[in-house]
Amino acid sequence: MASALTDKLSRLVKDLRGQGRITESNVTDMLREVRMALLEADVALPVVRDFIARVKDKALGQEVLGSLQPGQVLVSIVNRELAATMGEGVSDINLAAQPPAVILMAGLQGAGKTTTTAKLAKHLIEKRKKKVLTVSGDVYRPAAIEQLKTVTAQAGAEWFPSTPDQNPVDIGRAALDYAKKHFFDVLLVDTAGRLAIDEALMLEIKNLHAVLNPVETLFVVDAMQGQDAVNTAKAFKEALPLTGIILTKTDGDSRGGAALSVRQITGAPIKFAGTSEKLDGLEVFDAERHAGRILGMGDIVALVEQVTAGVDIEAAKKLADKVKSGGGFDLNDFLAQIQQMKQMGGLSSLMDKLPAAMAAKAGQVDMDKAERDIKRKEGIIHSMTPLERRKPDLIKATRKRRIAAGAGVHVQEVNRMLKEFEQMQDMMKKMKGGGMMKMMKRLGG
Ligand code: GDP
Repeated sequence: MASALTDKLSRLVKDLRGQGRITESNVTDMLREVRMALLEADVALPVVRDFIARVKDKALGQEVLGSLQPGQVLVSIVNRELAATMGEGVSDINLAAQPPAVILMAGLQGAGKTTTTAKLAKHLIEKRKKKVLTVSGDVYRPAAIEQLKTVTAQAGAEWFPSTPDQNPVDIGRAALDYAKKHFFDVLLVDTAGRLAIDEALMLEIKNLHAVLNPVETLFVVDAMQGQDAVNTAKAFKEALPLTGIILTKTDGDSRGGAALSVRQITGAPIKFAGTSEKLDGLEVFDAERHAGRILGMGDIVALVEQVTAGVDIEAAKKLADKVKSGGGFDLNDFLAQIQQMKQMGGLSSLMDKLPAAMAAKAGQVDMDKAERDIKRKEGIIHSMTPLERRKPDLIKATRKRRIAAGAGVHVQEVNRMLKEFEQMQDMMKKMKGGGMMKMMKRLGG
């Protein structure tokens, strides 16, 4: 992914770590970043607009703004929505038909139809123990028929001969007859490649579809197509009742956006992804992993969960109630806050979860120093008597020296911590009602 996005996301993580606060305005900011990420990943613009609108609807509802963990909620909305758009769960090839189950392969020339036909044959033979026949309806390129013959043999399936002087519909009929007579479970039909959308060829494949009545009509699309995938998908969707998509060449340096576009335009599930030129380079499509790839988020969801898991919401509410009802904010409360922050930031361990580039960026913020700082403050408060913690005003020069010695720090550190405490106490005093909740959000999540 572009490094700009990595930068943005490391900034996001930084925010979540120290004082994760998410307001209406940074929900909008975060969505702008998601939008950029989608466009950078080559998702088609209309698809991006639609997606962002859906997420924004949900995010600006009470779900995020009313939450004590808005960051987590927002990220999970984005991810959920992305995975939902991409298709949840996995869907293997449907063979629920009177044998032979016919599978029709459609797509542009060069998309990888012939290769994928053989990959599927291999998959069905090895994983589902089926007897598979292939046939090519590409009467325009004799080389295409030969290519299918070769790869079919490699896949261990049987190939049904066809010649350039035949009509594709006749070829389809003959192959279907042969498959029935010889008890094949599956007939895979490779079709003529189109360089671009072409009326005559679209009509031809429609006729082929009518004759064969396939249980699966699979749209094979090159992941590298990016923005163009939308137009191709639209045309095929209008011509044929697509039942599934196979995304090829996902091993290339495509940015993955075609998957989202094609899936949204056709409404058909992405069933497999091609991962190499070889016949075993076919994987069941993993929507979640692909969603992660599009946003370049790595394990950001897991990260956010870990950051926010440490927030003790009950304790935060109790404190809010206490301050609201006039009980003062003392050093015990301050200690509780510090301890929460410590829980949130088992920071160095979180680094392992980030993609390498992001971790390097985030690493520039000195985690160790932040953690040492929290520990020192804790040590200082632990060196105080219960009375001092409840009434910090009592802490004058002599007590400060004793406390510093007990915690093994300089007196200046005690002063610095007390000053921070006073600032927080000050803020607490100014907070009323909703303000208090905002404050909690700032502290907690
Ligand atoms: P067709 O014209 O649609 O039948 O496309 P082909 O099956 O002839 O494939 C076109 C090219 O893409 C060939 O060089 C294939 O080896 C290559 N190809 C197909 N699928 C994949 C894939 O998943 N990964 C890679 N790297 N190459 C692929």
